[in-house]
Amino acid sequence: MKKHADTNSSHKKRKVRKEIYLIAFLFVLIFGVMIYSYVDFLNNGSKDFIYNKYNSRFSVFSDEIVRGNILTADGKTIATTGHDDEGNEIRLYPDERLFCHAVGYVGKGMAGLESQYSFDLLRSHSTLEEQINNSLTGTKSQGDSLVTTLDYETQKAAFSGMGLYDGAVIAIEPDTGKVVAMVSKPDYDPNTIDKYWDDMTGEDSTSSVLLNRATSAAYPPGSTFKIVTTIAYLRQHEGNPDYSFNCKGYFDVEDYRIHCSGNKAHGSEDLMAAFSNSCNSAYANIGVNLDRQKYVQTAEDLLMNGELPTKLSNVKSPKFSIDEDTEESIVAQTAIGQGQTSVSPIYMCMLVSAIANDGILMEPYIGDKIVNAENETVTEYKPTEYGRIMSQEETELLNSYMESVVMDGTAKKVDFGDLTVYGKTGTAEYTSDKSLTHSWFVGYAMNESGKKLAVAVIMEGAGYGSKYAAPLASKVFDSYFR
Ligand SMILES: [Zn+2]
Repeated sequence: MKKHADTNSSHKKRKVRKEIYLIAFLFVLIFGVMIYSYVDFLNNGSKDFIYNKYNSRFSVFSDEIVRGNILTADGKTIATTGHDDEGNEIRLYPDERLFCHAVGYVGKGMAGLESQYSFDLLRSHSTLEEQINNSLTGTKSQGDSLVTTLDYETQKAAFSGMGLYDGAVIAIEPDTGKVVAMVSKPDYDPNTIDKYWDDMTGEDSTSSVLLNRATSAAYPPGSTFKIVTTIAYLRQHEGNPDYSFNCKGYFDVEDYRIHCSGNKAHGSEDLMAAFSNSCNSAYANIGVNLDRQKYVQTAEDLLMNGELPTKLSNVKSPKFSIDEDTEESIVAQTAIGQGQTSVSPIYMCMLVSAIANDGILMEPYIGDKIVNAENETVTEYKPTEYGRIMSQEETELLNSYMESVVMDGTAKKVDFGDLTVYGKTGTAEYTSDKSLTHSWFVGYAMNESGKKLAVAVIMEGAGYGSKYAAPLASKVFDSYFR
């Protein structure tokens, strides 16, 4: 009997032990999953969590880390964390409006680099010793800083050169894709964004102040689009630039008349002269004789109608659309950059960057590296090659055409100093009132040592490209190469 009872109790004990093991195992498993999830969150998930600009628990991270600085390539602090009179942490922008659209803001949500690099700015790579020390003493760790590709003086030249005009300037290094300057007007002071938020975004606000026009606006390209039409012509004539036209100052398509600027009769022209004079009649004539399907193909090979390859955020796609049913007069207007075509300044700057870089496009970028509080590099972003978008022969021809615009053509009166400049002016109509025009200049400059800078400038409603946008481009070049 006793023996039987013994067996029974040891049976029970074994059963209990089994249950204990099972429970212990489950605990270990749950704990393991929790640890795994936490580590995974820190490594991956936290990025989405911090990036989400509407996350109300955003402050959880800024409780432990002081949001890092944003700097120009030449080391000027353009966004930092300071304190208000009551000792509360606030975000400060020492240059007020100068970098507003590039840097963005933190306040009512986030924008610009503040939004794009928020994860990095709220992470600290200070030494482990310091981090442990900080957590023991309850001190916040200093977040990492973002060093941009922006050049302080070039940005300043672009910003002040715009004066009271609305519009945009963007400058890119063709061989790296580094964005050196990016200005959009109208501007705002990111220091006071919360205070004036309702005025800027309310129904009564007349201009979209927060829109970064350098990347996100859609403008008619005007005559700067003759670059694309020229490439389409070359591709449909086996690269042969032979062309002759006699300009009478206007060109009739169906019952629509296209005028040259000031009704000027340019007379007998080859392709280079038509480009250099920005002859609307010649280009309308070229446009209506192009194969439309191939014309669209060329525009798309030059990255229109698609997402642009760049690391910048909120970039507007350039639009180009004609087909077999499009009226001939619209095709003629499209060829001179009017009609349905729309571009952002960054697109035009990318196009001339590729011309400057022998046909190879580098992807534009503005975040150069992440550094810790000791100024040691944590992450470095390298130039990225998108690839070839035009042939070397095409860029050679375009270079000679764009140089002749500056030497003998529409921009010959602009003083570019000692620099060799290649460009195209544009005067783009944007309403049915043809006297209202945007002033465009796109092009690049090269100094004696072969260093290049590409720019796109648009000044809304200013008038002739040669009179306003080109002189501003000259100031930007001058500041960069000085
Ligand atoms: Zn003409």
